Amino acid sequence: MQTLNTKSTQHKTQPIVEKRTEQRANTRVGHTAPTYLSRITSKITITVGLLFLVVFAIWCYQAFERGTTTVAYKNSSGFVLTNVNVLTMADDTVLEAKTVVVRNGTISDILNSNDAIPKDLPIIKGHGRYVMPGLIDLHVHVLDRSYAKSALAAGVTTVRNMGGFPYHLKWRDELENAYWYGANIVTSSPIMNSVEQGDPLSHFRVDDPLLAREAVRDFIDQGYDFIKVYEGLNAQTYAAILDEASKLNVAVAGHPSYDLMASAPEKHGALRTFEHIEEVYDGFLNREQNNELATAAAQFLSKQGVVLVPTLAVNRELTRLSSEKQTYFSQLDLDAINPFVRAIYEETSFNRWLNASLELAAYNVSTDTYFHELTRFMDNHNVKMGMGSDAGALVGLPGPASIDEMLLMAEAGVAPYTILKSATTHAADVLFKGDTLGQLAPGFTADMVVLNDNPITALNTLREPAMVIQNGRVFNQNDLRVLKQEAHEHASWLLSVSRHLNYLIFG
Ligand SMILES: [Zn+2]
Repeated sequence: MQTLNTKSTQHKTQPIVEKRTEQRANTRVGHTAPTYLSRITSKITITVGLLFLVVFAIWCYQAFERGTTTVAYKNSSGFVLTNVNVLTMADDTVLEAKTVVVRNGTISDILNSNDAIPKDLPIIKGHGRYVMPGLIDLHVHVLDRSYAKSALAAGVTTVRNMGGFPYHLKWRDELENAYWYGANIVTSSPIMNSVEQGDPLSHFRVDDPLLAREAVRDFIDQGYDFIKVYEGLNAQTYAAILDEASKLNVAVAGHPSYDLMASAPEKHGALRTFEHIEEVYDGFLNREQNNELATAAAQFLSKQGVVLVPTLAVNRELTRLSSEKQTYFSQLDLDAINPFVRAIYEETSFNRWLNASLELAAYNVSTDTYFHELTRFMDNHNVKMGMGSDAGALVGLPGPASIDEMLLMAEAGVAPYTILKSATTHAADVLFKGDTLGQLAPGFTADMVVLNDNPITALNTLREPAMVIQNGRVFNQNDLRVLKQEAHEHASWLLSVSRHLNYLIFG
């Protein structure tokens, strides 16, 4: 999904109306030459004033803006979690009645119940609950710090941000330094798209392969973790991005290039993930519900080892907005959306779907059903699945939408164990972190979710985690409540605008 699409044509007629009013007023009072000079002067004053305000806002943002938290200080050298059933995610067995030992943010041991417990660490009783690795959502748009808090409160300990801005680098560092708590952020570069199709306010637009290579190097220099591509890019530019990124050993993820698909589809093998089942339908299947083309797509993706991130949740959201309209819209937690983002979305996506015709709503319902079939088909044909909700792109929030995504994959017919892998081991592999994240074993980062039931037999239990542990920091029920509350305390309008201005001016 495209985000922060600020294109709007609604005010096109406004300046003409103003001009006419101005002309009428001028005729009435009979303006002459000296007022022309004073008008120019006042225009200069207004422009200088505005410029000053912009510079002041950006200076304030750069100098003072930093995230905070009211969650109690969380530094601990470790703990012992006793009497838990462990889903290591190395396979689908559940290790019963174990003790997990965590030291300095890392799992140091998984002991049997009759083994001696280290005496130097505090004990947390597991009461026979289940523990699995922290969830990883591979496709979110972190448009406010509050979004990372909302993710962590739901047991999502890492998110892959799919539309990078400079502030994500700042937030990622703040999280690493524990200034506040939220899902760890792995962030893409700004979205790379063509000059014609890209949004001037939020995409990096490029049509020239050489400039694209230079941009890839710059983005990685600036600290972005990987490169995000959009389908509008021409074949040469898209191929150049894939090539430059592989030289630098960094991942490229995003939408396929239809241009490149026509000339050299195999080059898409360099993509780390293929985003949206909708793109499989639009790209490989030419918008036909065709089993032969679906088989070819599945063979291509599985042979190239590209992970498919279906993002069913965002499709269900737009389908429900367009078919159930206000009945669905009124149930949503819209207060948790950043106010600047919400204002933009109201003008663009919300109204578009809420005003959808009966015909468009019916089309959305039927494609939503088919996307589920196609997801199951891809899974049955050995395509590796990655969990990604596309939260932040419409009404869903990272965390709750991530769990929705997993339940929708189950509704589509994907087995619960595969779904859990899509959010743990497969997702960690996508991030090149398969040896530290996504499993519970000695040496792995202590990112865990403690659950009341076994998620393999009761996936729904993910909705209400009993405890979330990230980098060895324990968030109990009370902390999770505070995080959920903080997830509603987003940045102000002014701050959100100055963040974006900062990006537009300094890149
Ligand atoms: Zn997206």
